[in-house]
Amino acid sequence: MRKYILYAIGFLMELNCFHVSAQSAKPIAAIQNKFSINEIAPKGWLKEKLRQNLNGFTGHLDQLEPTLFQEDDIYGKDRLSKRIQHKNVGAMSDAGEFQSQFLWWNSETQSNWLDGYIRTAVLLKDSSHLKRIQAKINYLLSTQDPDGYLGIYDKELRFQFNDENGELWSKTTICRALLSWYNYTKDPKVLNSVILCADNVIQHYPLNSSHPFVTKNPNAGGLTHGLAFTDVLEQLYTITKDHKYQEYIPFLYQEFSSQNLHEDAQQFKLINASIPLMGHSVHTYEHLRTVAAAYQATGDNSLKSTLEGFLKKIDNATTPSGAAIGDEFIGGRKADATNTGYEYCSLLELMDAYISLYMKTNDPGYGNKIEKLFFNAALGASHPTESAICYLKTDNSYVLEGGKNGDQSDKNQTRYRYSPVHKEAAVCCVPNAGKIVASYVEHMWMQHENSIYATLLGPSELNTSIKSEPITIKEMTNYPFDDHITFKIEIKKSTRIDLFIKKPEGVEDFTLNMPFENKDGYLHISRLWKNGDILQFRMNPKVLQRQTIQGEQYFMYGPVVLAHAIDGKQHVTKNYSVAGLKEMTYRPLNKSIYLYSGMPVTKLTASKSLRFITQMKDSKTGTTQQLELVPMGTTILRQTTFKNAN
Ligand SMILES: [Zn+2]
Repeated sequence: MRKYILYAIGFLMELNCFHVSAQSAKPIAAIQNKFSINEIAPKGWLKEKLRQNLNGFTGHLDQLEPTLFQEDDIYGKDRLSKRIQHKNVGAMSDAGEFQSQFLWWNSETQSNWLDGYIRTAVLLKDSSHLKRIQAKINYLLSTQDPDGYLGIYDKELRFQFNDENGELWSKTTICRALLSWYNYTKDPKVLNSVILCADNVIQHYPLNSSHPFVTKNPNAGGLTHGLAFTDVLEQLYTITKDHKYQEYIPFLYQEFSSQNLHEDAQQFKLINASIPLMGHSVHTYEHLRTVAAAYQATGDNSLKSTLEGFLKKIDNATTPSGAAIGDEFIGGRKADATNTGYEYCSLLELMDAYISLYMKTNDPGYGNKIEKLFFNAALGASHPTESAICYLKTDNSYVLEGGKNGDQSDKNQTRYRYSPVHKEAAVCCVPNAGKIVASYVEHMWMQHENSIYATLLGPSELNTSIKSEPITIKEMTNYPFDDHITFKIEIKKSTRIDLFIKKPEGVEDFTLNMPFENKDGYLHISRLWKNGDILQFRMNPKVLQRQTIQGEQYFMYGPVVLAHAIDGKQHVTKNYSVAGLKEMTYRPLNKSIYLYSGMPVTKLTASKSLRFITQMKDSKTGTTQQLELVPMGTTILRQTTFKNAN
């Protein structure tokens, strides 16, 4: 019933939708610009995490699951035609009409994996993997037709759908990977391939006079994933400055908003605060980038309020770890640390959306959202020592044996456990887990005119030129697992540069060994930098107590959410012959759940790693005992939020 009410509202609200041609508003310039991926080097624990991925699932996923990679040349000789009713996409195996909706799956699996693989190998400058990738790129370029068509359909199917399809989505994922390779190589052949592909789309779905999102069935996941084609258009516009790519962004969003689709990001739904987020989370959060891009492309005020409404709804769905509900439909629920989980894909899509908003606005609040989500939810869903992830996880994670917190009612629920593949569910999350660390690292440093911004903090190195002077900034730290960052500057000729460091969330007490201005969430140091200058940033965060909407308590130290790590028994359920990888479940050794009775949480200053102690009450025995808290990003099983004892 609820759905029909939504459609009725939709019909009425469509009258209020934006119409770009009637607007006198102007595009808004992005404030921050990326450095080239070649100018940023990961260090310390970030480098180790990238290496773990490259040595594990990111570097070997095509070998771990060859049926979805080598055995399906979906962009080449195995393009989809009317004859194909069935193919192995990983999860489903029954043939039939239902199956056809998933036939694009392997394009997403292959291309999202390749994108993460490229960026990880580039950041680590790993020559043997880069060589392997070059061969894959060469092959993909060879699949492009003379008219520019790059995609998964043969001639009789392409661009003529009236139902579920993966036309734009399969292009989005492959073009994003190609652009990542272009950002590294600057090979004009690669850029030209993406340009030809985009131009071919614009030719067949003409601006303002076509309907690329038309569908008989409003549940059309591949079709609506295709709205993320705006990611490609945004990059192409940034590189070529050709306005036709920017103009196409609001057209796609307007067209998407006007169709009958079960999607949250349609404009008439977003501007109505009483309509909660209902849809498949991964779509919802990736579409945040489109709404931000459409607003930027037009400067349209109705899109500004649409974006603001969207962000408010996402905030209401966000759990203490910074993740928003994503298991897998949002379903109008409120965020809950035990009962609402999040898919790894939804973490990546939301984090990339916050990155996009950060670059557009220079609002460090987005930087804090990114750090929180990455350090807590994302690291906390990755295995701390093995190359494996949980497809789904919750902030409070008491059991990881397939179902949510021990729920065994659905025998097919296998997502709450660790795997380097998750073929039984879908091979979507593992490729995205290969992207998320690279995404964080690539955006740690930004520039605006002659200013340098340390936008996301952590061990890294920037090698660039400002005012034609080569400069290296070494950021030496174990942040966020450390309270101290040393920035070392190497520059031949002393040069005046404005350096902005994002002030981390929850850090009000700190010192810098140089004069600075503390303004708008940044520490601004403007000086004539000399070779060998050392900037010391010492933080003294307090443990902050926060409360969930259900009234449960949790604790933060800077950007890090604290959790009680629960000892568990590991059970290896599958060994792979590739790279020593394995699947694992965890059962708790102790089922105690603790209650908060108001005792302080104190940092153990003698400890090298971040450790805290407090007193909590065991809900079963009623006894109060000492409990240790650690960063939730380092845990497997854990209790993160605590109900009050009284
Ligand atoms: Zn996924």
